[in-house]
Amino acid sequence: MKHVFLLLLCAMPLAASPLEDANLVDVQTVEELPVFVSLRYATPNNFTGKPIYNTGTACYLHKEAVEGLKKAVALAAEQEEPFTFCLWDCYRPASAQKKLWTAKPNPNYVAPPKKGSRHSRGMSVDLIPCDFNGTPLKMPTDFDNFTPRAHMDYQKLPKDVLKNRETLKKIMTQAGFTYTRTEWWHFDKTGWKNKPLLDIPLETEN
Ligand SMILES: [Zn+2]
Repeated sequence: MKHVFLLLLCAMPLAASPLEDANLVDVQTVEELPVFVSLRYATPNNFTGKPIYNTGTACYLHKEAVEGLKKAVALAAEQEEPFTFCLWDCYRPASAQKKLWTAKPNPNYVAPPKKGSRHSRGMSVDLIPCDFNGTPLKMPTDFDNFTPRAHMDYQKLPKDVLKNRETLKKIMTQAGFTYTRTEWWHFDKTGWKNKPLLDIPLETEN
């Protein structure tokens, strides 16, 4: 009898994780996404000087954003000088957003927790173009640079940097993302408004 019960248990489908239930996918499990993941908020290497979440290298995005990213990766691979992307931030639980707001309570740069970040909908991605060894291409600034130099329309930049930023903007737009005026690295997948703000914790890597 005990064996029958165990067999039944084994035959039952595995329960989906809350992240899967919310249609969030770890981009590193997607074959068509040969991207690099370097989550700055999982390390002290971000503007707060502290890790904001502990997720190792798991980068979750809503499956609609994943589809968009696949298109962007394919377009980047078709360029005269092909490249891929290094991902700096993906899905960000609402609790992590609160920590960012506490560190920089300025709505020009950090979404107030009440409004919520589009990253908490799994529809936004922060990224930098990089070569196939994971070395970033020349871009205007580092991540989370809160100066005009990070603005999408800032022009006082070397020609190659301007070209790289324009190529990134064009590719992401073609792939179904909109860009942000103040942060060249941030893109929102269209349809983000229809997705809920989530506070599912990221699985920790211990
Ligand atoms: Zn962002």
